[in-house]
Amino acid sequence: MFERDYARDGAIRYGIRAPKEYVCGMTLTIPFDNSYARLPNAFFARQSPVPVRAPKMIVFNDDLARLLRISPGDVQDMAQAFAGNSIPEGAEPIAQLYSGHQFGQYNPQLGDGRAVLLGETVGTDGMRRDIQLKGSGPTPFSRRGDGRAWLGPVLREYVVSEAMHALGIPTTRALAAAETGETVFREGPMPGAVLTRVATSHLRVGTFQVFAARGQLDSLKRLTDYAITRHYPEAEGPMGLLRSVRDAQASLIAQWMSVGFIHGVMNTDNCSIAGETIDYGPCAFMDTYHPNTVFSSIDQMGRYAYSNQPDIAVWNLAQLATSLIQQVDDKEAAVEEATEIVHAMPDMLQQNWLTRFRAKIGLTTAEDGDLELITGLLKRMAEGQADFTNTFRALGSDAARDQFLDPAAFDGWEESWRARLEREATPLDVTTAANPTFIPRNHRIEQMIQAAVKGDYALFHRLSAVLARPYDEQAGAADLKRPPAKNEVVHATFCGT
Ligand code: AMP
Ligand code: MG
Repeated sequence: MFERDYARDGAIRYGIRAPKEYVCGMTLTIPFDNSYARLPNAFFARQSPVPVRAPKMIVFNDDLARLLRISPGDVQDMAQAFAGNSIPEGAEPIAQLYSGHQFGQYNPQLGDGRAVLLGETVGTDGMRRDIQLKGSGPTPFSRRGDGRAWLGPVLREYVVSEAMHALGIPTTRALAAAETGETVFREGPMPGAVLTRVATSHLRVGTFQVFAARGQLDSLKRLTDYAITRHYPEAEGPMGLLRSVRDAQASLIAQWMSVGFIHGVMNTDNCSIAGETIDYGPCAFMDTYHPNTVFSSIDQMGRYAYSNQPDIAVWNLAQLATSLIQQVDDKEAAVEEATEIVHAMPDMLQQNWLTRFRAKIGLTTAEDGDLELITGLLKRMAEGQADFTNTFRALGSDAARDQFLDPAAFDGWEESWRARLEREATPLDVTTAANPTFIPRNHRIEQMIQAAVKGDYALFHRLSAVLARPYDEQAGAADLKRPPAKNEVVHATFCGT
């Protein structure tokens, strides 16, 4: 079967390999060990980041760098490397191929259109991770895009992904952000920036879909083996992989639900095989609780609304199942097994959800009526326009009832909750285990971006510091707990990359 050689195509179309003088022989060292670049050429296009005019470092994540065994260099070298002007030694930059369903429609070729994978490192914890530049210029997969990112989404992803990590939820991470000194045109002229993203891999449901849809079974098998080796060495064959991805996704989505996170674009190309939160675009944390909450400006039908996320995760897994089956000889048996695996996911999501929300109301044991107890609270929260984060955090104190338009509506629920707590030997402290007090509230993120565009990074640094300890009370940070005032409410969040 003919498989297109993107390495060659990329070089022909763009001719922007790094000239020798760009190679960093500098102070920054990254111990690369690149397994993906060793896969066949059909998996990616070799593509260097495209240099920018005036690189300037915004932030570098020292803790994460230590985990990755990276030794930082002087600030000039770092700016050059993390804006894409120099290639650190050992990097083998590539743009990865994938496809995916976007809002339910299959798009046969997506791929990294504004990102390059520099390579991988094996961290001090033994875990292999990708180091990727996002906003690093056009690639053979850019279609009509410019391959760039502007400062807003770069800082949003930096803050929100690191906050997610601090919340204990699997996610890609942010190693660095740099200004490019160039202008990017979106709604208007915007300052350009590059994010350095770290992921346990960038394998997506869409990475499997592209080979399955093209009937490139050798590549599909190779990818399946690669994914198993890298993420789930205990998994047996394609169906074993499907099971492991299901478990990871079912756990992840329940965790999103438990902190009021709305991803916003759960397309199959944004669904990680490793079960990490990936591709922070128009994502947001909910303030006032309502199950139908949507922030994304492009999600007109509410496909990716808060309460739809579990169903969408199942839908995405079904797409992975359909792709994986293609490589199995006994199709009938594979379809039967895959169906059983996918059909078990809703129940698993429900159980994980229950476990998370039981903890949020202080329960350590399970009783039959718990589901009704929790949904009873959520229903009152929706009617009473209660703040999701602050209500759970305040349970047990008067501050909880103050969250509701009609506090009496909460009192009725509280009575049944207290009766249930009586049957717990040692109820959890709701203010610590499962209920953060600091989340990256959307209006603060917007304020942070507006200030940064004017060159003021104070709120960016402050948010990063406070959100690193989301469960701890912190002096002088009460303003960051507050929901938005009426005039601060952000109604729509833009992809705006
Ligand atoms: P995402 O919104 O991250 O899920 O991206 C969807 C697809 O659009 C991916 O293939 C991206 O690489 C591509 N894309 C997004 N923004 C740009 C851009 N500015 N230039 C080129 N490709 C882009
Ligand atoms: Mg994406």
